Amino acid sequence: MVGGVLVPPTCCGCGRVGHVLCADCRAQLRPAVPLVSPPGVDEAFALLSYEGVAATAIQGAKFRHHREVLTLFADALGRLVAGRLGAELAGSGNAAVTWVPALAANRRRRGVDQGELIAARVAAVLGLPRRCLLRRTDGHSQLGLDRATRLAGPAIAGCAPAPTTVVLIDDVRTTGSSLRTGAMALRCGGAERIVAATLAVTPDPKRLPGVYHPSTNPPCHGTKGDPVADPSECTPYLSSRP
Ligand SMILES: [Zn+2]
Repeated sequence: MVGGVLVPPTCCGCGRVGHVLCADCRAQLRPAVPLVSPPGVDEAFALLSYEGVAATAIQGAKFRHHREVLTLFADALGRLVAGRLGAELAGSGNAAVTWVPALAANRRRRGVDQGELIAARVAAVLGLPRRCLLRRTDGHSQLGLDRATRLAGPAIAGCAPAPTTVVLIDDVRTTGSSLRTGAMALRCGGAERIVAATLAVTPDPKRLPGVYHPSTNPPCHGTKGDPVADPSECTPYLSSRP
C-alpha cells in the first residue's frame, strides 16, 4: 500500500501486473538438478534450478526487496522437505531450523538476512522452531573470489548449542561450501543430523569451480533425500498463488 492506495503486485519475472509470479513465468521454472550432499550434510534438498525466472526472482528478492516471491519459494521448499521428512522431524523432539548467516554488511544494507526469512517460513511449514545457531566470522563476500578461496567457504562458527537435528537453510547453492562450513559448525555445537535445504542450485555445476556434480561424484538417484530431479516433483509445491 502506498499513500493509502493499494498497489497491485507485479510479476518479479516479467513485470506484468497482477501476481507476484505470473503463470507464464511459473511455467518457466525448472527443478533443481540432482546433486550429492556436501560433506557433513546428511541429506540435501533444493527446489529450483538457479536460472531464468528463478534467478531473476531470487536476485530481485535479495537486491530489490521483492520479498513476496521469497515467501512463495520458501513455503514451497518447506513443503518439499515436509513431504520427505515431515514425520521424522516432527517426531524427533529435538530439532530446529537455522540458516547460513549473511555477512553483517549485507544484512545491514538489505535490512534483513534473506536466509533468516526463508528459515522462518520453512520452520513454520515444518512446525519446528527457528533458531539462530550460526554467525559469520569473516567480513567479505564469496562473490568474485578465486576457486581455492571459494572452496574454503565462508568463515562460520556456532553461536549457540545445536539441537540433535538441524535443518540448515541457504538461498542458493553453488559450490556447497557454505553448507559444508555451516554443517561443520553445527556438529561442533552438538548436532548429529543435518538436513540442508536451499531454494535453488546452480544449473550447470561443471562450469563452476569445485561444485559436486553427478558426473564426477557418486550417483544420488533413488536415495532418500535426493534433490528434485523430475520436473513433476517441483510444480506441486508451487501450487499456491498469493
Ligand atoms: Zn511473469
